[in-house]
Amino acid sequence: MSEPGLTAQTVLLVEDNLDNRVIYSMVLLHAGYVVIEAVDGEEGAGRAREHHPDVILMDISIPKIDGYTATRMLKADASTAAIPIIALTAHVMDGAEQRACEAGCDAYLWKPAVPRRVLEEVRRFIGPANG
Ligand code: MN
Repeated sequence: MSEPGLTAQTVLLVEDNLDNRVIYSMVLLHAGYVVIEAVDGEEGAGRAREHHPDVILMDISIPKIDGYTATRMLKADASTAAIPIIALTAHVMDGAEQRACEAGCDAYLWKPAVPRRVLEEVRRFIGPANG
């Protein structure tokens, strides 16, 4: 966490795969962002409402509530609607890109996404950690 009084940009990472979660989290932390983690859609939506992160990385294939549904919920809620959501999807063949857009995602990354691409996409939306 940042020092009190400093405003580090916060990323909510919703990802059920432990390896991906650890790797993406490490890269984002190393770049200076505050990272909040969630392992399913229910926890992800709850953490978004609680912490109001600057951007959300949303895996689509997650337990309890899938990423499309969690995105729709957050975009329908006035308190979280303005938070950019970057979808992480492995569903290359089934129109996942279109479904992610329809759900309200602001961008998407195909999985497996190398950590550098994840970091670049986060920066594109919210700039550097303390910028
Ligand atoms: Mn997943």
